[in-house]
Amino acid sequence: MQHPLIDAVAADADEFVALRRDLHRHPELGFEEFRTSDLVAERLAQWGYAVERGLGGTGVVGQLRRGDGAKRLGLRADMDALPIMEATGLPHASRTHGVMHACGHDGHTAMLLAAAHHLATQCEFNGTLNVIFQPAEEGRGGARKMLEDGLFTKYPCDAIFAMHNMPGHPQGRLLLRDGAAWASSDDVTITLEGTGGHGAMPHRAVDPVVAGASIVMGLQTIVSRNIDPLHMAVVTVGAFQAGSANNVIPQTATLKLSVRALDRGVRDTLERRITELVQLQASSYGVHATVDYQRLFPVLVNTCAETAFARQVATELVGAERVELQASALACSEDFSFMLEHVPGCYLLIGNGDGSKTEGNGGHGACMLHNANYDFNDQNLPIGAAYWILLTQRFLP
Ligand SMILES: [Zn+2]
Ligand SMILES: [Zn+2]
Repeated sequence: MQHPLIDAVAADADEFVALRRDLHRHPELGFEEFRTSDLVAERLAQWGYAVERGLGGTGVVGQLRRGDGAKRLGLRADMDALPIMEATGLPHASRTHGVMHACGHDGHTAMLLAAAHHLATQCEFNGTLNVIFQPAEEGRGGARKMLEDGLFTKYPCDAIFAMHNMPGHPQGRLLLRDGAAWASSDDVTITLEGTGGHGAMPHRAVDPVVAGASIVMGLQTIVSRNIDPLHMAVVTVGAFQAGSANNVIPQTATLKLSVRALDRGVRDTLERRITELVQLQASSYGVHATVDYQRLFPVLVNTCAETAFARQVATELVGAERVELQASALACSEDFSFMLEHVPGCYLLIGNGDGSKTEGNGGHGACMLHNANYDFNDQNLPIGAAYWILLTQRFLP
């Protein structure tokens, strides 16, 4: 038997499916979610939320207080789309050339709005509910921007929760993980400065290409020799740019790296070793190296008590057989991790479907997030929204 809350939300499903598809039709890139944030703010205000706009540029926070409870809860959804040309051919496909909701953030926004509506109109709870609609999750640090604009100073939360849809898992399955769940992500740009010269007279030049090639090979030893084999780490050299002619030794070479870890200590070791190794290898070739190490997203760490609580809510809602209590960690990154550095909480995944690749448009679950054929599974709307509602009622009883 399905949980009555899922049925209750499903009664309004038409409205919120239409809203989700409207968002899908009108995707907006990070920090440009003008139409989306207008829509979110208008709805929240209609339903009685105190609404603040402008946190993190296009972010929206809605606050609803009930009773005299002192506890404060934060629920977060992201609103931005990606620079991808949609290929689904669906009736609700993007109307904006080259921009697409290929990560299902349209679904996240719709699920949290459906829950916000239900909580305001049909539910009792005791305490303060903050619904946080974040801009620019896709690599542009919208969460950090909201924090810089005083998100948790203005809206203190005792715990914060978020969710992401995920293809390749049965539709509606809820996946949780205690501890480190999503990896940190750092970008490194290495510039090697040698002395350009004639390809026939290498002894009169200082070759940054040879130094760079040696550095690429040396970097491979960091994960294999400096990191505990029981820990995860990735050092990928995604770009190596130098020179343009056979017979010219170039003046400079550039390497671009993506670096990931699931542990804060491992992340520190990677930064230290990459910097040391590049400097020492470069100087052994007489080349000058500059290392620009940019820490982008921290490791996403779900806290113990809040994960236990979220597991209870998930199990109560969909039954133990549809909950994965300790799912695998992922090497992807997610900027909800910035919020979890300030407030304890838990990030959960909801299965978007595990359909086969032979279904039309790839089918739900067949193609990955960020694929031009991706679409959020609307059957998840009542489940995701009911999870938010039950979680709020249990957290603010
Ligand atoms: Zn994404
Ligand atoms: Zn996403």
